[in-house]
Amino acid sequence: MTNNQALDHAHISAKKFLDELHDRPVGPRESMRDIVNRLNQPLPTDGDASSRVVDWIVEALEPGLVASAGPRYFGFVIGGGLPSAIAADWLTSVWDQNVALEAMSPALAAVEIVASRWVREALQLDTVWTVGFTTGATMAQAVGLAAGRHRLLARKGWDVEEYGIQGAPPIRLICSAESHASLFNASRYLGLGTATWCPIDVDRQGRMRAAHLAQALSRSNEPTLVAGQAGNVNSGAFDPLTEIAEACSQNHAWLHVDAAFGGWCRASDDLAYLAEGIQSADSLTLDAHKWLNVPYDSGIALVQDADAHRHSMSVSASYLTAGHGGDGMDWVPEASRRGRGLVIYAALRELGRYGLAQLITRCCRLTRLFAETLSEEPGITILNDVVVNQAVVEFSAPSDRDPTEFRDEVLARIQSDGTCWAGPTYWRNTPAMRISVSNWRTDESDIEISGSAIRSAYRACRYGGN
Ligand SMILES: *Cc1c(COP(=O)(O)O)cnc(C)c1O
Repeated sequence: MTNNQALDHAHISAKKFLDELHDRPVGPRESMRDIVNRLNQPLPTDGDASSRVVDWIVEALEPGLVASAGPRYFGFVIGGGLPSAIAADWLTSVWDQNVALEAMSPALAAVEIVASRWVREALQLDTVWTVGFTTGATMAQAVGLAAGRHRLLARKGWDVEEYGIQGAPPIRLICSAESHASLFNASRYLGLGTATWCPIDVDRQGRMRAAHLAQALSRSNEPTLVAGQAGNVNSGAFDPLTEIAEACSQNHAWLHVDAAFGGWCRASDDLAYLAEGIQSADSLTLDAHKWLNVPYDSGIALVQDADAHRHSMSVSASYLTAGHGGDGMDWVPEASRRGRGLVIYAALRELGRYGLAQLITRCCRLTRLFAETLSEEPGITILNDVVVNQAVVEFSAPSDRDPTEFRDEVLARIQSDGTCWAGPTYWRNTPAMRISVSNWRTDESDIEISGSAIRSAYRACRYGGN
């Protein structure tokens, strides 16, 4: 059928993109403005052939694409797509199933049940944990906080889903001073605010000081929600979760842990110790589109209190018929939704338990190698203990230069060179570069050539020349 030519065209372009991904310059060749100028026509009066639409999209957007799915993109925390996950994502679109209710698609409801099981098994979590497939970690944070809010207020006899947050008994909110910004974003959605969080101070690696948390908890017996993290977005450091969980349980506080990428360390025998204690949390945030290497968008919310999870998310209406535990809408804010669990199922099946452990361990080993290579260069310092896949890199500036401006100049040089891509951060007030190795494609040779590209960019900025 001619109608499907668009898919053939997309398939050819997709394969070309993936074939060239390893070797294309990592950064974009054109800016957003350039692309807008090319696309920015009035809405056409007449339509176009579907395959021509696809060809035009590829031609017009190609120069502005970033090889962030490739092996030498070290910005933010960004994975690529495992082949089966990309293919499963295509099928998810082609099948176009709605997973709000089991009745809408037994197939995708079934796959989400099994994907939930596999995620729990990968993280060595008990079967009592319920799972919701969200757009990303930010929404998973919102699910965890909503479940916590439900449980804490229900204990006070307040039905927050019915009566809302206004007039409710106060909830004390305690987090780490190094919490990820998404925690506050999620908190805002729930009417819990942002300035309302009491930050607990952290050590040099950015780990919450558990003793200080215990002190804060003992000061009041108000319902309390504590947010810890497994994997600091800069240093990769893990909060001491066992001690934190103990303090929370003694004080009947709800413990939510942001384990967006760090949670996957539970899959590796060598690294699981870092995330020890996670199993005692009440709710967890996990990303699949980062370290599990599935395409955007994909996050996972896990709650160890099915009743609180369901109460805070589910709705009922005359025409919504309850299934047999496969109604996706019971566990996430959305009703209609694509079957996000399928790509997660595919990725976990492609990797297996062993492959997943290897992926996680390999990224961490490569990050250590990266850090070693870079710190061999005089003037380059690694600011954190490299415990997982994150490194924070300082470029020492000439004494007459502003350190932030100098850092930005080095980064601009690295980025325009195109060998690899990394972005800025501040670590304990020092301007630095962040490195995150989260892609299944990255290997030793990528680290070697990226390491030398970064070192030459630094030398060129520091001592001149090119
Ligand atoms: C990326 C990240 C988030 C937010 O994740 P999104 O998927 O972008 O919403 C939250 N916490 C941590 C630690 C992260 O690294």
